[in-house]
Order: sequence, then C-alpha cells, then structure tokens
Amino acid sequence: MSAFLKLLARNRLALAGGVVLSVVVLLAIITPLLPLADPNVTNTAARFTKPFSEGALLGTDHLGRDLLSRLMWGTRLSLAVGFAAAVVAATLGAAIGIIAGYYGGRTDNLIMRGVDLLMAFPYILLALAIVAALGPGLFNALIAVAAVNVPFFARNIRGITVGIAHKEFVDAAKLAGLTHRQIILKEILPNVVPVIVIAMSTTIGWMILETAGLSFLGLGSQPPQADLGSMLGEARSAMIANPHTSVVPGVMILIIVMSINLLGDGVRDALDPRLKSGALSRPMAATRVERSGDIPETEGKGLLELQNLQTQFHVGNRIYKAVGGVSLNVEKGECLGIIGESGSGKSVTALSVMGLVASPPGVITGGAVRYEGEDLVGAPYGRLRDMRGRNVAYIFQDPLATLHPLYRVGDQLIEAIRAHRPISEAEGRTKAIELLKSVRIPNPEKRVSDYPHEMSGGMRQRVGIAMALANDPDVIIADEPTTALDVTVQAQILSLLDELRRSRGLAIVFITHDFGVVAQLCDRVAVMYGGRIVEEGPTTDILDRPAHPYTARLMACVPELGGGKRRLEAIPGLPPAVDRLPQGCAFAARCDRVQESCQAADVPLGGEGLHAVRCLFPFTSPQEAAE
Ligand code: ADP
Ligand code: MG
Repeated sequence: MSAFLKLLARNRLALAGGVVLSVVVLLAIITPLLPLADPNVTNTAARFTKPFSEGALLGTDHLGRDLLSRLMWGTRLSLAVGFAAAVVAATLGAAIGIIAGYYGGRTDNLIMRGVDLLMAFPYILLALAIVAALGPGLFNALIAVAAVNVPFFARNIRGITVGIAHKEFVDAAKLAGLTHRQIILKEILPNVVPVIVIAMSTTIGWMILETAGLSFLGLGSQPPQADLGSMLGEARSAMIANPHTSVVPGVMILIIVMSINLLGDGVRDALDPRLKSGALSRPMAATRVERSGDIPETEGKGLLELQNLQTQFHVGNRIYKAVGGVSLNVEKGECLGIIGESGSGKSVTALSVMGLVASPPGVITGGAVRYEGEDLVGAPYGRLRDMRGRNVAYIFQDPLATLHPLYRVGDQLIEAIRAHRPISEAEGRTKAIELLKSVRIPNPEKRVSDYPHEMSGGMRQRVGIAMALANDPDVIIADEPTTALDVTVQAQILSLLDELRRSRGLAIVFITHDFGVVAQLCDRVAVMYGGRIVEEGPTTDILDRPAHPYTARLMACVPELGGGKRRLEAIPGLPPAVDRLPQGCAFAARCDRVQESCQAADVPLGGEGLHAVRCLFPFTSPQEAAE
C-alpha cells in the first residue's frame, strides 16, 4: 500500500489531481457545517448580483439565490451521484463480466450478446430513453448513467476473466474441490479487482459529466434542488448578459473532471504491475556504460575475452553488484562452462557481453569485453546490433518463451537471417530447412511450417539452437539451455552442441548449475559465487581436485551413477544478497573451513598454473575435499 502511494506521489500531475480532488471532496463533505446561505431561498430583488459583492461572494442567479451556496450543495450532489453511478456500474458490470468469462460457452454468448445489444445504441440516446421511461429525477438519472456504463465494465472484466479462468492456479483450485462460488471469490476476484479499480478511476469523471448532462437537459435534478448540471442549464438563458452564473458551475465541473482524470491515470499507472516494473521508462537499446578508472589493455587471450567485468543494478539508492569483476576467455572450438547457484551472476555476465542487460536498472561500471581484441563495452549501438546473432549468439533456457507463438518456426528462422542479410523467401526456406536438419530435427521439410506449440520441449530447444546458428556465429552463449528439459533430451542436446562445436569450430560459453553437464561438455570451467569467479581451471582438474570449499559443495550435490551409497547434501544457508556483500570472502558465512582472516579483507584469485582459486585455505588433496 505504501509502495502504491509512493509511486502515485512520484507522478506530479496525479499528485496535483489528488490534492485538488481531496479539497473539493472535503468541502463537499463539510458543506452542511459551513455558514452558507440557504441555497433555495429566492430573492428576486437581488437578481444577478455580480460576484464579490456584499453578502454573495460568487454573486446570485436569476432568482437571486446565493451562487456560492448552490455551488457547494450542487457539487456535493453531483459528486455523490457520479460516484454512486460508478460504483453501481462497476459492481454490476464486473459481476456480469466475471460470470460470462468464468462459465464461458453458452452463458458467455448469451450475456455478451445482450451487452453488445446495449452497446449498439448511442450512449446518450440510451440514457435519454431510460430516463424517458422512468421519468425525470436525479435518482432515475443515476440509474440511466449506471446502466449505460455497465457494458463497458462487463466487456473489460470479461476479457480479463477469460484470461485467468484457464490458468493453472484455477485448475488447481478445481482439483482441490473448491466450488465455483469459492473459486470466483477467492481466485478470480482478487485478480480482477485492480482492473475494476483502474476502470472506475478512469470513468468516474465521465459519469459525473453524463449526470450533469442529463440535469442540464432538465432530466436529472429537479428545481429547486441544485446540482452542477442543472445550475448550468438554468444559467443558459443568461449566458451573455450574466456569464458568471454559468462560469461558476462550469469551472467546478472542469476542476472535478480534470482532477479525477489526472488522479485516475496516476492510479492506473501505479496499480498496473507491468507499468510499475518500468515499462513506461523505455529501456535503452544497449546496457548503459559508466566506466570509471582504467580500461584494461587487451591480453590477446582467446576469441572472446572478459576483463574484470563489472555490472551493477542501480535501483533507487541500492546498488546490486551482480557481476563484481569477472575475467574469462574462450578460444575458437573451446567450451567454457560457467557454474554456480541461482543468483550468482551467471546470466548477467552472459548478457553483459552484447550489452543486453536492461537499462535502467543495469549499468556496466567497469572492465572490458573484447571480441578479437575489440572492446565492446561502450561500443556504439549500431556495432553491437550488427554483432548480435552474427558474431555472438545466445540460446536461452525456455525455448517456448523465446519463440513467437504466432509465427511458424521456419518464418522465425528466416527472420533471424534477414536481420543481417537480405535473402529471398525461397532461399530463406531452403536455409531454414538446412538449419533444422543440422540440429537433427527429423522431417525438417514438414517441420519448418510448424508452430512452436506443435513441437516438444526438446525439439523447440533444437529450434532455439538452429536460430542461434542461423548467421554462422563464432561464439554461442548458452544460458542453462537444458534446465527445462528431461534428462534424456538433455543428453541429446548436449551431444548436439558438442558436435556442432567440433564441426564448426564454435566457441561455446555454457552456463549451468549442474556439474554433471559440465563434465560432459566443457573443456574448462569457471565457478561463480556472489558475482565473482571463485575457482577456474580445466574441467578434469577441477572435478578431480576441487580446491574451493564451494566447488566441493556444489559437486556433492550431483548424484553419481554407480557411485555407491552417498549422502547428497544441499549447501546450507543462502547465497549473499548482492546489494549487501560481506567483506572478504562471500562464501565465508556458509563455509565450514572459515577462519577469522577470511572475513578481514578481499580474497584474491590465486593458485598455480591454469587452476586458480579464490580461497585462503583451499583443499590441497581430493581426499580432503571429499570429506
Ligand atoms: P544467475 O546466476 O542465476 O543467472 P543472475 O545473473 O540472473 O543469476 O542474477 C545475478 C544477481 O543479479 C542476482 O542476485 C539478482 O538478484 C540480481 N539481479 C538480476 N536482475 C536484477 C534487476 N533487474 N534488478 C536488481 N537486481 C537484479
Ligand atoms: Mg540465470
């Protein structure tokens, strides 16, 4: 709630609208307590007194009634009627929409065609017809305004409900034996309430206007009762000679509707979680770069070389050091594994390479990413765009989320190629089939016109790989590509990647949290923890002689086939939050070899030869690590 208010307050216009509206509503509430003249007492001797005259601050109308008093009472009435109409319309409309959307089928058809029928009439005509049938009067005007707005709410809410009614959590509630009524009240309603509030906050001003319109035509409030519409209507004949009689209620209507709409927009933006996460602030095309300090010189190691890369997220006044100085390199034809628990910074490292970390909040604050020696951090967007997919391609975890659900996979492959070079439709199709064949999808001539949902998970991931291969990249960064797949499919995908790397000389950066996968595929492996590399070396070396306690712990999490009875142990405790990294070794709090010096100062990456480790008391023998 306080987060909601904070978001709302950040929107200046909404804040102004809220303040003005609060003042108006407050005044309307305390109107009976104010020392005002009776709004309905006529005094024809004092007709059309000008504003700011003695005893009548806003002047008087054609019957000599005090305009200030009428304005206050009128505002009170108009606000009450408009608000009541909005509540009635929202409640009825939402109920109708939820029932139609939840039950679907014939119920839905019947209800929605009725709603369509109402919507087919011009708005104001329908309201007039209703008032004509019920007879003039403020209460009937309220009913008319509510009635013509019900279809709007019903349509909106039905759309949302249809989307929710078949979600897994609703199915789960059904399986748990909840009745329809319970499901609607407990599962559906909480999900549509924000939408109802948003729809209401954006239409309530409109309803006040409509009520005023009916009163203006003499169909709403009846004399002598004042509401803003009837005041305008009565002032119509005196508009030229005594404009103040129409200006007073007119300005009040303007103020009310403006402030409600400004506030309503603010409420919508603050309540909508998609907008809240920053969708309104357009993300930048490439990650923001703010490097202080020296840019490291190239060491010419490998095709892709990360040097002391630092990527942070700046959220409010917090700084999340997701990647805190990572150096890595990978050669042509080599497979480098990056392994670590969830949240250790693997994905952010990978995305930083091509400037794909979303900004805001992502910022690259230091280091370099070199591709054949060229520094890509801070490279112009055009250069990065040109290289994305053509030099460095990505494979992500969830192929269903990365493939467009509405296009055939062939067309998506062609699109990926066309991003970098123009080819004809026929040529593209041939190339797409060729790509599918190269990732060993059976019957590619037919499969090329499948939609993503027509394929199995493993096959979709093969399409994901085909897409990465579309422009013959030199480096493929695979971010947990097999995590969503079952073990046999995982093995197939791994052998496919292995074969591709050997046949095409690809450099692969393979991100995983599974040492079993690393053992199968990678030549070298880097272990990440808390945004830094804690151990790095040739895979066999690390598997045989893990030096860092964290690495040993990670390996103990992998079951071994035929390895006999062994306890599989999860690592106790949680990884550190990267906005509050401890001093010294980040693993110290969970380590059973910890000593005082571990937490005193930064621990450097040390070790002899190719096998480096960031630990003051590393294991020196495999036996020690196995205990
Ligand atoms: P993983 O190793 O599981 O791929 P990530 O690289 O995705 O981990 O995340 C590394 C760290 O960065 C996490 O601790 C996460 O909390 C933080 N992080 C990622 N995205 C954001 C973001 N948009 N705002 C703040 N922190 C983030
Ligand atoms: Mg990740």
